[in-house]
Amino acid sequence: MRPPLRPLLNQLSGYMQEALNRARDEATQRGPVFDFGIGDPREPTPLFLRDALRAAIPEVSQYPSVRGLPPLRRAAAAYLSRRFSLSLDPDAEILPCAGAKEALFHLPLIALHPERPLCFFPDPSYPVYERAILFAGGTPRPLPLSRERNFLPELAAITSDEWQRTSVVFDNYPHNPTGAEATRAHHEQLFALAREHGFLVVCDEPYVDLYAGAAPHSGLQLARENVVAIQSLSKRSGMTGYRSGFIAGEPWLIEKLAEARANFGVASPSFIQRAAEAAWNDDAHVIERRESFAKKRALLLTHLQARGLDCTSTGVFYIWVRVPARFTSESYAAHLAQRQVLVAPGTHFGESGRGFVRLAMVPTLEDCARAIAVWPEEGTA
Ligand code: PMP
Repeated sequence: MRPPLRPLLNQLSGYMQEALNRARDEATQRGPVFDFGIGDPREPTPLFLRDALRAAIPEVSQYPSVRGLPPLRRAAAAYLSRRFSLSLDPDAEILPCAGAKEALFHLPLIALHPERPLCFFPDPSYPVYERAILFAGGTPRPLPLSRERNFLPELAAITSDEWQRTSVVFDNYPHNPTGAEATRAHHEQLFALAREHGFLVVCDEPYVDLYAGAAPHSGLQLARENVVAIQSLSKRSGMTGYRSGFIAGEPWLIEKLAEARANFGVASPSFIQRAAEAAWNDDAHVIERRESFAKKRALLLTHLQARGLDCTSTGVFYIWVRVPARFTSESYAAHLAQRQVLVAPGTHFGESGRGFVRLAMVPTLEDCARAIAVWPEEGTA
């Protein structure tokens, strides 16, 4: 007899990335693909970061500590200071993590109070928030985001009673999958509620440096009380495979997170931390990456708009496209896949993603142009 495992596992539909990988494998068997589906950029990791990693490989790689290396925390604090004019104590207010995903997943395990089971997350969104809440035994509550409200949640629709039973609110701007940015008023309203009702806001900000217009703010610029921000090198520095980011927040909270996180892991290996330190200490490579994504975005936006498709994209990394009238998210994705153009159906990101598809600016500029050349007319494939 097999062990039964958690019933939750059967309730979860396959993880989005796995589904997208399967679609890509099928299409690849037919020929070359233009993969706008998974948000894993192909721009090489800058050479100086690879060199920093190689130079840091020690003779013996010993256990990293939970709090990570002091120079990495200092580099993270220096980045927050340059980019957002924030002044954080690197030892008390910064904690490295092995990528944002890991930190996000573990947060509800630490922050969920049994008398406050509700945890809010944006819909559509990166799927990890809801899963983190479910695995931690919380009650997930989606915050629907609509095109009409510029993809900002209607916080006034939540009652005081619900806020009083809330432990965590996940907030993510610039937003995956819509590319939307938050107004300062949104964060002011959310943080005031967090202070009044005593819940934690997790500002997940891995795209904050990949902007098209004015540089977006960090949640931490508007409030520090009851707020943690999670930053990642994955997209900013082309280091998705390195698994490195950090959590920033108030000293008492970072102290608690450090204590709790020691139960399930440690910081990334020291050589990854050294490469991460080099990445946070440099902005020039980020400008180059931003420009690379911006060129692809401009090319695709022009094409999609010329086709009469309704698109939104404030950041440079994602374009969120309303599918033509006779399609669903899935059928339009399948329609494009017949021409080897792969996109993520909006429904992968939640109920409110219905009727949309997401394009990630991942293929090369040349491949973007090739994809445009084979893009099917609405009615043909
Ligand atoms: N948050 C969001 C909104 C994301 O889109 C992603 C990655 N696609 C992550 C977190 C995870 O980032 P990391 O690679 O740092 O784990």
